[in-house]
Amino acid sequence: MNDSPTNPSFPDTPAAANFVRDLVRADNEAGTFAGRVQTRFPPEPNGYLHIGHAKAISVDFTIAAEFGGVCKLRFDDTNPITEESEYVEAILDDVRWLGFEPAEVVYASDYFSTLYQWAEHLINTGFAYVDDQDGDTISAQRGGYGNPGVESPQRDRSVAENLDLFRRMRAGEFADGSRVLRAKADMQHENMQMRDPVMYRIRHEHHHRTADDWCIYPTYDWAHGQSDAIEGVTHSLCTLEFDSHRALYDWYLEHCPLPGDTPRQTEFARLELTHTVTSKRKLLQLINDGVVDGWDDPRLPTLRALRRRGYPAAAIRNFCEFIGVARTNSRHQIELLEWFVRNELNRTALRRMAVLHPIKLVITNWPAGHVERVTLQNNPEDAADGSREVAFTGELFIEADDFMAEAAPKYFRLTPGAEVRLRGAYFVRCTGFTTHPDGSIAEVHATYDPATRDGSSPDGRKVKATIHWVSTAHAVDITAALYERLFAAEVPGERTGDPLDDLRPNSLAVVHGKAEAALGAVDPGQVVQFERLGYFAHDGEQPMLFHRTVGLRDEWANVRKRG
Ligand code: ATP
Ligand code: MG
Repeated sequence: MNDSPTNPSFPDTPAAANFVRDLVRADNEAGTFAGRVQTRFPPEPNGYLHIGHAKAISVDFTIAAEFGGVCKLRFDDTNPITEESEYVEAILDDVRWLGFEPAEVVYASDYFSTLYQWAEHLINTGFAYVDDQDGDTISAQRGGYGNPGVESPQRDRSVAENLDLFRRMRAGEFADGSRVLRAKADMQHENMQMRDPVMYRIRHEHHHRTADDWCIYPTYDWAHGQSDAIEGVTHSLCTLEFDSHRALYDWYLEHCPLPGDTPRQTEFARLELTHTVTSKRKLLQLINDGVVDGWDDPRLPTLRALRRRGYPAAAIRNFCEFIGVARTNSRHQIELLEWFVRNELNRTALRRMAVLHPIKLVITNWPAGHVERVTLQNNPEDAADGSREVAFTGELFIEADDFMAEAAPKYFRLTPGAEVRLRGAYFVRCTGFTTHPDGSIAEVHATYDPATRDGSSPDGRKVKATIHWVSTAHAVDITAALYERLFAAEVPGERTGDPLDDLRPNSLAVVHGKAEAALGAVDPGQVVQFERLGYFAHDGEQPMLFHRTVGLRDEWANVRKRG
């Protein structure tokens, strides 16, 4: 687990360290890159962004901004088979939603011509060759750690022959998989990445931007550092799994005729969260298996989903800043992220009354047909949000669990004989109830005390609970989607190796409730607090559908206590 703060005064605890920031500052002080800072966020457009990407985005953009530099969004679109323009649009949209504006939107495919020229340069200088062997043979020859590599019989082809073959590969003369261009690096290197890696594969495939211009495509390693150099990136920040690629990254740059500075790769820890998965492959499987409804299903950790669920972008940014940037992988508690969500929404969300499991409360001594207006503050955290009037009558909906026919110990809400306050209005005392034939509660009966409108009684009587309500004659119908964590286990897949073995069977409950009239006027995507219940996001498309963003209770406090 991560070493998140255990200080009881959290969140005032200082944020964790960020070694990337320290490193860039040190570079600046030393005059490296002449004080210039340029980064990039390089997603492959083969899926939607998730909370893990939010950390990379946040690191790339905030570091550049802090040091007066620029950060570009670069689509790493070197693999025509898995990539689609649908993802390009969505990724750009998600980055902007998160609150970052790329200095420029660029594509690795913009550099296909330069990469091709540099590949010829490597051939000409004796650092690349065409290999006619198939993929399996090439990987077998690569050997393994402690096992020597076997040089390809074509490794010593002449420059002329290599150039001729490479040009014919590019011209489309050869079938997919029949040849590759490889770097002539070091077949005995202890780092497998250095054992003559593949630079180009033949793929007669349509590309979402370059159409049918190319039938050879660069590998990630051949494209990445060179794209960084072409753009003028100084600090190429990526996740730890690229650590073993760094030697190759540097080797390629050393052997290419770069136009300017040589960028430097630095790796940081991936973001992992408890109770969720962030692998695109696993997310896709959840969708394909019908476990969730699509990439924006609010139970997923994709940015689309979190946004639909009502997570404010600022909460995600603050969380990313808070957890810091380290060199060792760690898994953060999802309750910590939720703490940031709740903290943000507490300041910004309007309060409304909604009853999700309605039962009727009839006030038997209420004057027939009488309607009163109760004034309630929209947001006690922000007076500027003003107040509203809510209609109060003698027939209300209340939450089913705010009434018990036979009170359990320490149950202070409505039960025959007990008195509670109705939020913003009167004290009511329960006088009885009626049931449906199946025994469920049909109506709760009560009398109100007209002298308690301001929340106190002239005789000094106290009530132990205040419950919320909605006037039946004024209520609007709402549907609420209540989510539980998709994975029951803290670390999905820890037991069996497959996260899907830890899926919770019922992670979604849809309920039909009643709400005060003001809820009929919320904007698509707006998040409101249903008093006493939690924060709920109005769906962007389906009117009167609300997604439970997060409950009101600070679960991070419990996690912290557990230690
Ligand atoms: P794939 O599942 O296809 O490997 P990916 O998660 O690596 O995808 P990319 O589109 O290649 O996705 O990622 C873009 C950038 O986001 C990369 O620099 C990558 O290091 C970073 N990134 C991806 N996942 C995380 C994560 N969980 N935490 C932090 N950064 C991440
Ligand atoms: Mg990747």
